[in-house]
Amino acid sequence: MDTPIRVVVIGGGIVGLSTARALGERAERYRITVLEKEDEVALHQSGRNSGVLHSGVYYVPGSLKARLCTDGLRQMVDFCLEHSVPHDICGKVIVATKTTELPYLHEIQARGEANGVRCRLIDPEELSRLEPAARGVQALHVPDAGIVDYSAVCRAQRDLLSDDGHEVAFGAEVELVDPSGRTPRVRGEDIDMSADAVVNCAGLHADRIARASGAEPDMLIVPFRGIFYELREEARDLCRNLIYPVPDPEYPFLGVHLTRRT
Ligand SMILES: Cc1cc2nc3c(=O)[nH]c(=O)nc-3n(C[C@H](O)[C@H](O)[C@H](O)COP(=O)(O)OP(=O)(O)OC[C@H]3O[C@@H](n4cnc5c(N)ncnc54)[C@H](O)[C@@H]3O)c2cc1C
Repeated sequence: MDTPIRVVVIGGGIVGLSTARALGERAERYRITVLEKEDEVALHQSGRNSGVLHSGVYYVPGSLKARLCTDGLRQMVDFCLEHSVPHDICGKVIVATKTTELPYLHEIQARGEANGVRCRLIDPEELSRLEPAARGVQALHVPDAGIVDYSAVCRAQRDLLSDDGHEVAFGAEVELVDPSGRTPRVRGEDIDMSADAVVNCAGLHADRIARASGAEPDMLIVPFRGIFYELREEARDLCRNLIYPVPDPEYPFLGVHLTRRT
């Protein structure tokens, strides 16, 4: 048998787990260990987000984001169907509440069409039929956007990795990767292991680990915090599916939105 290739993936969020699975599927020789500092997967961004399956409507045509988002949606839905992960392709509306927002709404429609995403401008009457509590001058309906339980996606990936003989270790906080030896060494308070390759998928801490390991990434992670409120039971019908504003192009956020959870 070929000599195994030992790979350490730092971080048990959706990026680390997906990276580990993609490597595991590439060759049987890979022996993968995911090191996660918490005691379960997806306890940070991956399990605390809006749970939206984005369609790729917003992104600049031809960009990596546009391609990965449209491909990723298809792959994610296939994964959910195969592994019984709760999800729903419920569609979404992006609502312009003022006429000044219309040029950017139309730009999003043009981008969506160029990216191969089904999307259609709708008038206030049709908006009311889809989302009776929403008001706007015009909206973009994106039927293939949806919702998913990303924590369940990550737990399914964790189990698949274990089934394939890889390891997901918890309570394993990495401090740095020492690249000075023949092979890199991953170190932490209770960790000292060598690997043939290390992949840093530590989410919002990825740049810190890179710097502590002697790398000089020419980027800085600027985290932003999402605040979520839950509608009371009697107010739940204010939102049937996904209602988004037209994002302000000055900011890298999609704006305050209403979502349904799986
Ligand atoms: C408010 C908000 C809403 C969002 N909504 C959506 C949405 O609706 N749809 C969507 O597709 N995307 C959404 N996103 C983006 C999405 O959540 C992230 O892109 C994705 O979860 C990033 O995954 P990750 O694995 O890189 O990071 P994380 O999920 O943060 O995973 C990183 C992991 O690394 C671990 N880690 C960190 N440091 C160490 C260390 N030193 N040693 C060991 N382990 C370590 C952490 O404990 C964590 O588990 C949203 C993001 C935010 C902030």
